[in-house]
Amino acid sequence: IISCYTKKKKRKHIFLKQKELNNMKKIYVIHTGGTIGMEKTQDETIELQNEHPLFKQNHLNAHIIHHQLFHLPSPHMTPKKMLKLRNHIAEKAADFDGFVITHGTDTLEETAYFLKLTLPIKKPVILTGAMRPINEVGSDALYNFNSALLVALSDRPNLSDIFVVMDGEIHDPSYVTKVHTTRIGAFQSPNSGPIALLTKQGISLLHQPLLERKYFISNVDQEVILLKAYTGMCPNVLTSLLDLKINGLVLEAFGQGNIPSTIAIELEKFLQRNIPILLVSRCPQGIVEANYNYIGGGKYLQKQGVLFSNGLNGPKARLKLSILLSNHIPYQQLQSHFISS
Ligand code: ASP
Repeated sequence: IISCYTKKKKRKHIFLKQKELNNMKKIYVIHTGGTIGMEKTQDETIELQNEHPLFKQNHLNAHIIHHQLFHLPSPHMTPKKMLKLRNHIAEKAADFDGFVITHGTDTLEETAYFLKLTLPIKKPVILTGAMRPINEVGSDALYNFNSALLVALSDRPNLSDIFVVMDGEIHDPSYVTKVHTTRIGAFQSPNSGPIALLTKQGISLLHQPLLERKYFISNVDQEVILLKAYTGMCPNVLTSLLDLKINGLVLEAFGQGNIPSTIAIELEKFLQRNIPILLVSRCPQGIVEANYNYIGGGKYLQKQGVLFSNGLNGPKARLKLSILLSNHIPYQQLQSHFISS
């Protein structure tokens, strides 16, 4: 039975003949949890439901298969679970025309970027979520889900990869980030803007997404730590990391890529042990550059052997560095993977 609309726009369940099904595009929807899988309860809390509220939603002329892979608030997501999701999509890739992944908005950008780096696929894989559960006034759950399905069904070759669809915009996983705690329009790509808009007429492409190399990955066991620089930062924070036997460190530096001098001096201990250190900026826009030559300035850090990222935010740079390290990319080659042309 497929749930669909009749000509009179009345929703009803009908049996579709096999021939009709064959003519329809097949979309595989993987649910992972998040607000889009939750409902508001009587005591005004928001909770995951046993049956996903989107299971019975099919407003489009498509053959939609739902699968609940996880049932998680997205702060419980881990790179290991991202890998499981990646492998599940890869297994099903040949059987479907496109994929929609529903996900909590808190960490959606990380899962999207992980998939973009590790899933070689020539089909749309569209991640979406909701800021308000389906039974709350002004919910975006159904609108975002439908929009994601529309993009997954579109035949646009430049959308045959991993994308994020939220609030009528299509975003590149490399740049999209959650910028607001509650607003419906919570997702932006501060460095580039959305790559396309969903209009009433269809999809209006604004620019091409960033091309990223795909990496093979069979496990995610590299410990890469993310630290944000702040004034008066205590160097002992870094020293204590050395005992944790970390594999890499991402530093969210000030402005163009500068850190306190005391921290810069402490970094020597990591570099002597061949632990890569990657710089990103605390600023939501722009890229880090080796410009200032004072102790802790970008030029000084570059001379020390610190690596510079290319506009990725901290969590995404951290994911990419751990994927590169899982691929045993040697230290001397790491920088070349963070240069966009
Ligand atoms: N805390 C929720 C989550 O990420 C937020 C959401 O889905 O919007 O799972």
